[in-house]
Parts: sequence; structure tokens; C-alpha cells
Amino acid sequence: MDKKHKILSLGQWGLPGNIDPLVIAGPCSAETEEQVLETARLLAGLGIRIFRAGIWKPRTRPNSFEGVGTEGLQWLRKVKATTGMLTATEVANRQHVFEALKHGIDILWIGARTTVNPFAVQEIADALSGVDIPVLIKNPLNPDIELWIGAIERILEAGITRVGAIHRGFSAYGKNEYRNPPHWQVPIDLHRRLPDLPLLVDPSHICGNRILLKDITQRSLDLNFNGLIIESHHNPDYAWSDASQQITPDALASLLDSIVVRKEQTNDASIIQNIEELRTQIDKIDEDLIELLARRMELSESIGRYKMKNNIKILQQSRWQAIIDRAVKRGNERNLSTGFIESVFQTIHQESINKQLNILSTDHLQGN
Ligand code: PEP
Ligand code: MN
Repeated sequence: MDKKHKILSLGQWGLPGNIDPLVIAGPCSAETEEQVLETARLLAGLGIRIFRAGIWKPRTRPNSFEGVGTEGLQWLRKVKATTGMLTATEVANRQHVFEALKHGIDILWIGARTTVNPFAVQEIADALSGVDIPVLIKNPLNPDIELWIGAIERILEAGITRVGAIHRGFSAYGKNEYRNPPHWQVPIDLHRRLPDLPLLVDPSHICGNRILLKDITQRSLDLNFNGLIIESHHNPDYAWSDASQQITPDALASLLDSIVVRKEQTNDASIIQNIEELRTQIDKIDEDLIELLARRMELSESIGRYKMKNNIKILQQSRWQAIIDRAVKRGNERNLSTGFIESVFQTIHQESINKQLNILSTDHLQGN
């Protein structure tokens, strides 16, 4: 980031209760006053201190439930009055911001369908200028880290200092194990680029089902995430939106009981030394990998020149297939997954083709 913005750590947000990890829970959507209050009552009973509920729902297709609108904000006010919990909701435009602030909402989040749109994010940022409220920014639908950082910067430039990011996975075509595959490298890169920014995971929207929630939550905590925002409904099977991924407060309680919060750092000298030794070995292997990749590319270039001279096409599908098959077989024997090997080799192959194409075009320019 060009400009250094002030970003407060979660500990400086003035939030109630345990913030390691921070837990925000509540239904996908506010549906009825009874549903909101009953779910909130059960969650408060578990010690949850921040309640989420969508009031305006961005739906993919028209003519489905699009949220109860402003009326639901009164119910969230009642949640605060009856349970003492803070409340959080999604805003997608200026009007939502004004309404939410008017009704005393404590935390705002920007949804994935809004983060993709710089006009909408800027409109929200302008509406927030001079307001002191925490704002959480979900990743955009597509794995575009610049777009995510851009949205975060717009909110920071409005003077908001309690800013956090929510990782909710990225949309993908076709049927997948996850509703929104997590592509962990993106939030890891975000953390590298903005190390002070609190990072939450939204396992509900990553998974799209109840089975994988625990695994995703545990994994994110092991990756140093600071907390989670998770969908919970007192009667999830009958939820008006995202029924398949919502869990009862009871199920949430057992999920939270089962996760392990591991330490980030230790003072134990022998542990530190063992980790350091392993890291040194990893660094050495990374160097070797770079060296090997460079040598491989040099060979590709030589073959490229040779193919040129002899007028042979660059891509020979059968050779490429044989390379992949062999690599996958060898990789599997060494406990490396097919998907991993395929993606590494696809990247290497693409770079090798680019190098060969470059040779072709330079040669052409030189009129050889
Ligand atoms: C939600 O939190 O209910 C929601 C709409 O999420 P997302 O923006 O991640 O799709
Ligand atoms: Mn939802």
C-alpha cells in the first residue's frame, strides 16, 4: 500500500468478551422478530457477544427473499436491549449505512458482491466519513487480491480505523467440494501485504454445508486468523436463505468446544530452535527449487530455438500429456496429490511455452 493507514488491532476495538478468537454468530437473514430474538437468546446463552443478521440480502436471482429491510433493524435493537450483544449487519449502499447507523448497529460488513464494485464501496466509504464504527470487508467474489485491498483502502481513507477483512471463499463454476473454494493463498497474501489487518473467516459461505464447517474453522485458526463469523439459526432447516449451511446454536457450541486455539509464538528455546532448523532446510529447498526451475526454463529455451530452426510447432500435446502423467505418478508415490502436481506442472508448462513463444516472436522480428 502506498500510504500508511492507521489500522487498530482487534484488542484495540473495545469489543466485549473473549476476542481470541473473536466469534460473531447469527442467522444469514433476519426473517421474523421471533426468529431473531430466539436465535439471539440462545447464542447469548453460549456467551456469544456479537450477533450477525442480514437485513438487505443480495440474492443471485430475482423474486426470492431479499431481506426484511429496515423493519428488521428494530429487531436488532431489541437483541441489544434484551441480550446486551453487539449487532452486525451487511450494507451495500449509502442508504443502508444511514439506516443501520440510525438504528444503532454496532458493526457493519461489506458483502462479497459489493466488494467487487469500487463505485459501491466508495459510496459506502463516503457515507461513513467521520463515523467511528468497525467495518469488516469480505473478499470479492473472484480471487482478486487487488480488488480486496482496494476496497479496504477506500474504507481506511474514510478515516475508519477499526477495519477487518472476512475471508468467505471465491465463487467457482460447476460443482465443487466447497460452495466457495477457499484458495487460502489469497488471504495469506492479504496478511502479508497488510499484516496489521484483523482477519476473520466465514466458514458458512466457504462450505455451503454443515459438514465441513469445523475443518475450515480449525484450518483458519491454524493459519493465524483472528476469528470467525458464522451463520447460526434456531431452526436452520426452515431458514429463508442459506438453510443448508446454517447450524443451531447447540451445534455451534460443540463446534467451538472442539476447535483448538494453538499458540502463535513460544518462548521455549528448544522448540524455537527446532522450528528454526526446519525453516532453514525449507529455505534451502526453496533456493534449490528456483535453481532447478531456472535450469529447466533454459532447457526449454534451447528446445524452443531448435524447434524454430527445424520448423516444428511449439506445443506437442502427446509429449505434454506424458510429462503430466509421469509427474502425477511419481508425485502420488511420494504422497503429493494429483491436483497439486497438476497445478505446479501446468504453471511450469505455461511459462515454458511463453519462453518458447518469445523466442519465436523475437526471431520473427529479427527476420531470421
Ligand atoms: C452473508 O453474509 O449472508 C452474505 C450474503 O455473504 P457473502 O457476501 O459472503 O455472500
Ligand atoms: Mn448467508
